[in-house]
Amino acid sequence: KREAGINRSEIRAFTDFPSKGIVFRDICPILKDPEALAAIIDLFEERVRETCPGVELVVGLDARGFLFGPLLAQRLRVGFVLVRKKGKLPGPTASVAYTLEYGQAEAEIQEDAVEAGQKVVIIDDLLATGGTLYATCELMKKQKAKVLGCLVVIELKDLKGAGPNRTRVRVLPWSST
Ligand code: 5GP
Repeated sequence: KREAGINRSEIRAFTDFPSKGIVFRDICPILKDPEALAAIIDLFEERVRETCPGVELVVGLDARGFLFGPLLAQRLRVGFVLVRKKGKLPGPTASVAYTLEYGQAEAEIQEDAVEAGQKVVIIDDLLATGGTLYATCELMKKQKAKVLGCLVVIELKDLKGAGPNRTRVRVLPWSST
């Protein structure tokens, strides 16, 4: 059906961005194409309705999770909350530190954003090593929320970010590598 509206060539690859040796997948053309974007949100919605019954919140990751997350949350008629890089959110926060390919980072959430026992799905644009999603799952655990699933548009399969030691990530069927 709408999957026909998504074309993998719409995800461009830029070599040596943001630094030498990195191949960066750019999702901007998807956002510019209303049919492709609608097809992606359709697939996310379908996947969540099938596999994550009772979801109460969509949790989006800084920054491109913020582009897809609210659209999905509206479809599901549930709320959207932000997990941000350290220092961006006002008021009391909870955080989890994690290791990036180069250096350290911290994922942060407003303390009252998620209630204990709430069922959430986490969304981001891309899964590489899985470090960011894994840290967010830890953050949800810390807040006593229940993670029903994780969603990404693109999985870089070679990096095995969704492997057995990482969170189980649900990816769109056309998105591998
Ligand atoms: P990970 O923690 O899985 O190694 O990296 C995933 C995070 O880094 C995601 O938040 C994602 O937005 C960002 N990221 C890493 N590489 C890329 C890339 O090539 N393209 C895009 N769009 N995001 C990337």
